[in-house]
Amino acid sequence: MNPHLTAAIVLATIPALITLGYAVLCWVKPVKPCQRCAGTGHITTRVLRRPRACRRCDRGHRLRTGRRVANYFRRLRTEAHQ
Ligand SMILES: [Zn+2]
Repeated sequence: MNPHLTAAIVLATIPALITLGYAVLCWVKPVKPCQRCAGTGHITTRVLRRPRACRRCDRGHRLRTGRRVANYFRRLRTEAHQ
């Protein structure tokens, strides 16, 4: 087999597998723990150190970027078919 062809196949397969793995991850686990509040859902204020609800997430969970993109395209498709 041609070594250039083998290299091209490997170079095309690895990013495809990574993308497929991320798509499966977004499908199986669409939310991830919030990095700002470490999944607790609240942060402490700087001055008084009082707990306050985290504004970035919903009770410690954030939607993954890939899932957000998938939801956007699904919404576009349903709007186009109405
Ligand atoms: Zn948070």
